[in-house]
Amino acid sequence: MTERSQAGEVSGTTDQPLIRLDGVNKWFGPLHVLQDVNLSVSRGEVVVVIGPSGSGKSTLCRAINRLESINSGTIVFDGQPLPAEGRPLARLRSDVGMVFQSFNLFAHKTILENVTLGPIKVRKEKPESAKKRALELLDRVGIASQADKFPAQLSGGQQQRAAIARALAMQPKAMLFDEPTSALDPEMVGEVLEVMTSLAKDGMTMVVVTHEMGFARHAANRVIFMADGQLVEDAPPAEFFANPRSERAKDFLSKIL
Ligand code: ADP
Ligand code: MG
Repeated sequence: MTERSQAGEVSGTTDQPLIRLDGVNKWFGPLHVLQDVNLSVSRGEVVVVIGPSGSGKSTLCRAINRLESINSGTIVFDGQPLPAEGRPLARLRSDVGMVFQSFNLFAHKTILENVTLGPIKVRKEKPESAKKRALELLDRVGIASQADKFPAQLSGGQQQRAAIARALAMQPKAMLFDEPTSALDPEMVGEVLEVMTSLAKDGMTMVVVTHEMGFARHAANRVIFMADGQLVEDAPPAEFFANPRSERAKDFLSKIL
């Protein structure tokens, strides 16, 4: 049987976290960017990661789908240590959808092609069924009418929603968002957050790096505060915002709120 079904059997019989980091360390040369990070994310949980620029938030996300290797510690996804290469790595990347600040769509492909490419090439889906599902997903993110356009013909908010549809087309078990609204004009932030909120309500497991504190308050189960590569606080949003414990979190919140 495939590893996917084995993993599925394991996950079906336990309540282990979907994502688990234990003692994770990462250096870039002399720079210790992840310092002994421990983090568990349960199935269906929405974890918002906040913290100053350079604190390691992107590196944390990138480590979870193995866009970045780690120097020590372990990361387990759905019961399996992260694979380093080959087909298991490709599978991990489709199981863990990632949405970046820069939408990263293929410029020379239509929106529909952007969404069907992964399912057809990686998941070996039939073009017709991939197209049908892609149109459903584009409808879900509110841009079905843009399916035959090219990315440059869409607004930033529409492109980011297309990027979310593209990640969802791989039928991920979790979604990572790295500042998905930071590159958008202010009037487009809401439409992207709305799609993310609806995904959260549908039970998607999500790790979201964002400066949108409204989203953190309303959609997150937990807020993680990072500073200098350390996971400094980990609390439900109401508790974190009402009563941040560390000076660094207080200082950060005073600057952004
Ligand atoms: P954040 O997303 O919180 O702004 P990052 O995870 O991007 O932080 O970066 C953490 C630290 O690691 C920063 O000091 C950054 O400059 C550094 N860094 C990130 N990526 C690299 C890289 N590929 N090579 C060297 N340093 C890096
Ligand atoms: Mg970043």
